Amino acid sequence: MRVSVIDDACHGHQMCAIAAPEVFGSDEMGNAIVLIDGDIPAELQAKTRRAESNCPERAIVITD
Ligand code: SF4
Repeated sequence: MRVSVIDDACHGHQMCAIAAPEVFGSDEMGNAIVLIDGDIPAELQAKTRRAESNCPERAIVITD
């Protein structure tokens, strides 16, 4: 699994970072960034999917 954030869609609520703090952080503007390069480890995938489904802006994209 890989994950990315659509920068233009992100509004910086940080709900993703609350759901999966190991995966999402924030840049200097407060928008979400992905902290993990490459594949998301198996133990973080459920949290990552939760973050994706909870993002109010649908700014998180998961690819398998
Ligand atoms: S929850 Fe969605 S819109 Fe909010 S910071 Fe995370 S990716 Fe951006």
